[in-house]
Amino acid sequence: MQRFDAIVLGGGAAGLMCAIEAGKRGRRVAVIEHSDRCGKKILISGGGRCNFTNLHCTPQNFLSANPHFAKSALARHTPAYFISLVEKHRIPYHEKTLGQLFCDGSSREILQMLENECQATGARIFVNTRVTEVTRTTEFVLRTASTEFRAPALVVATGGLSIPKMGATSFGYDLARQFGLKIQETRPALVPLLLNPDDCKHYCDLAGVSAGVSASSGGATFTEKMLFTHHGLSGPAILQISSYWKRAAPIHIDLAPGREVTAIFRDSKIPRTLAALRSAFHESLPSRFANRWLEINAPSTLDNRALETLERDTHHWTLTPAGTEGYDKAEVTAGGVDTDELFAKTMEARKVPGLFFIGEVVDVTGQLGGFNFQWAWASGASAGRSL
Ligand SMILES: Cc1cc2nc3c(=O)[nH]c(=O)nc-3n(C[C@H](O)[C@H](O)[C@H](O)COP(=O)(O)OP(=O)(O)OC[C@H]3O[C@@H](n4cnc5c(N)ncnc54)[C@H](O)[C@@H]3O)c2cc1C
Repeated sequence: MQRFDAIVLGGGAAGLMCAIEAGKRGRRVAVIEHSDRCGKKILISGGGRCNFTNLHCTPQNFLSANPHFAKSALARHTPAYFISLVEKHRIPYHEKTLGQLFCDGSSREILQMLENECQATGARIFVNTRVTEVTRTTEFVLRTASTEFRAPALVVATGGLSIPKMGATSFGYDLARQFGLKIQETRPALVPLLLNPDDCKHYCDLAGVSAGVSASSGGATFTEKMLFTHHGLSGPAILQISSYWKRAAPIHIDLAPGREVTAIFRDSKIPRTLAALRSAFHESLPSRFANRWLEINAPSTLDNRALETLERDTHHWTLTPAGTEGYDKAEVTAGGVDTDELFAKTMEARKVPGLFFIGEVVDVTGQLGGFNFQWAWASGASAGRSL
């Protein structure tokens, strides 16, 4: 039997940060990780360069049934705090775009930094350790096949359901239910969308073509790149709105944001021919997509009215996706442990003293761009400092 002041279940981004902060306060901490190493998602994140935070992080960058919940943790643990850690470890980084900070080298440096910090504070990491049962008497008891871990505090940092082959499990949600906590329904987020068969017939052979668009759904709009895939749509604009998209709802895409594609035809000297129309669209869209769009949408006559309709449709392409590519391809899981169940300052469960939930398992989901790690660091540090 092994006794600690706190057990952190899950050695990902949030769990490691929590262990570091609790360890710095002199707590004896165990991190229990069921796979063969910690932080696998950190390693694959940001295309191997880990977009570890975002300089412009605000509560508006997060989705939750309670949009106010994340404010406290985010305000007390800002990106500057994590950046100072990165600088202390002399990890070179750069701003890629829109405040997104990436390692110059590799995500491995971020994981190594977290593991070194854990080691410095004396936190013990147990990998390949599978918990079969969690009970609570005067303290939390976690059973594995060969031993038992006991502590007065248990921090659940088991992440979401995305990428099961990286070790994602529903363990955290099941544990929340076991202790009577509500869950906001989970769904894949930051995930490619599948086109319905009719739209796919028209566009899926354009796989690999990308265009700068404004995509909207569920009250959110993102102006970024959209990418055609063999099954539908992806790229940052689509990944972002996928988090706001509800099944069977339409999405709207402005294919030429801020531009009037047919403006040249106001000049009466420009001939109103399909060739001229095509070259006008080539100015705004990749040529393969422009040609396909016109094959499907070009009017038979190019009078003012028809051009107005074409212009309007180009700014308001409405599609109803058939679904998403699911947890196998989702970067994160939206929904999770209901924030009404947790204290916002500490992440402790209101009705189960000593039980904490941090990171992606909580119903707080960041937009694309380093916000999900920022939530993992902020919620992990909040819990760690209250242990
Ligand atoms: C491909 C990809 C790229 C990403 N890139 C970025 C990025 O660049 N920037 C960004 O901000 N976000 C990115 N994300 C999202 C980010 O990785 C997650 O939001 C973040 O890792 C969540 O941290 P977490 O600690 O809550 O969960 P995780 O990091 O998923 O950690 C959970 C840990 O718990 C372990 N675990 C699960 N069940 C159990 C159990 N029963 N017992 C013990 N251990 C268990 C898991 O093995 C894992 O180690 C990316 C995600 C993916 C999939």
